Amino acid sequence: MITILKPGTTEERRNQLTRWFESQGLQVHAAIGPEQTVLGLIGDTSGIDAEMLRLLDIVESVSEISDPFKSANRKFHPEDTIVDVCGAKCGGGNFAVIAGPCSVENPAQIKEVATRVKASGATMLRGGAFKPRTSPYDFQGMRAEGIELLLEAKRETGLPIVTEIMNANHLPLFEEVDVIQVGARNMQNFELLKELGKTDKTILLKRGLANTLKELLMSAEYIMAEGNENIILCERGIRTFETYTRNTLDLSAIPVLHNLTHLPVVVDPSHGTGHANLVETMAMAAAAAGADGIMIEVHNDPAKALCDGPQSLTPDQFHRLMAKVSKVREAVTCD
Ligand code: PEP
Ligand code: MN
Repeated sequence: MITILKPGTTEERRNQLTRWFESQGLQVHAAIGPEQTVLGLIGDTSGIDAEMLRLLDIVESVSEISDPFKSANRKFHPEDTIVDVCGAKCGGGNFAVIAGPCSVENPAQIKEVATRVKASGATMLRGGAFKPRTSPYDFQGMRAEGIELLLEAKRETGLPIVTEIMNANHLPLFEEVDVIQVGARNMQNFELLKELGKTDKTILLKRGLANTLKELLMSAEYIMAEGNENIILCERGIRTFETYTRNTLDLSAIPVLHNLTHLPVVVDPSHGTGHANLVETMAMAAAAAGADGIMIEVHNDPAKALCDGPQSLTPDQFHRLMAKVSKVREAVTCD
């Protein structure tokens, strides 16, 4: 349920009403803007008489929200959320560029890629240390050592780091990680989401291979319900009957999610297409469609990559992509 207060309502009256809602067992999410104050009620509102509320002199309108996601809902929080990762912002007009290899492979590789993507304008460094591979015989990642190498690359370049978690028991290893990625395969690992909700880390939540946008938002809700609101959503393509591309990159997810939620939305055209030669075009398309950032796999020698080489760009290709994406962003920004 959402209660919009009349302009000019005093803080005292607002607090009075808030306390009353709380006494009814509800959590109140207040969005106090210059024009409007919106009180979002989270919890069981069946005991609240909307008609009676509407009669209060400070209440402008009351609407009942049937969306099951409350904290992530834009109706409760009309302003865009801007996630700030050590100064690298995402959302509300701030464009994040997360780039780096699929997996951290050795010190020289991550160092070189980090230096090159930083020089081309990346704002965060990605690299998998724990890898969710379809086959147990494939490279599983460097694990704790991989995180150490990412931290070293961060010290050298200043880029905040993004890396995937697969098991909540590994959380102590992520203490210095800036952004914890929840991969597509774990989007509905609800116990993991709850544990991440208890941290204050930024979470990059990727859409599952066969999940709807509503399910993605419900997963974000799991994290937010525990108190962590630092979430970046990531569209990375879904499974369809099409086999030419690795996944079908659903770019309509960007405007749909922007309508439904205040959380920033980034796009991963690397996993979204699976082919290096399609990544630049789809990165430009994502920027044109209003994405708050992109995530791009970059490898110093894609042919020899231990994971996802066919979709990885060389640093030179990434440099070109950055130039093109920034032109697209200029073209679609009106002010
Ligand atoms: C990744 O980012 O390397 C990854 C495994 O992504 P996804 O979970 O989207 O497949
Ligand atoms: Mn990958």
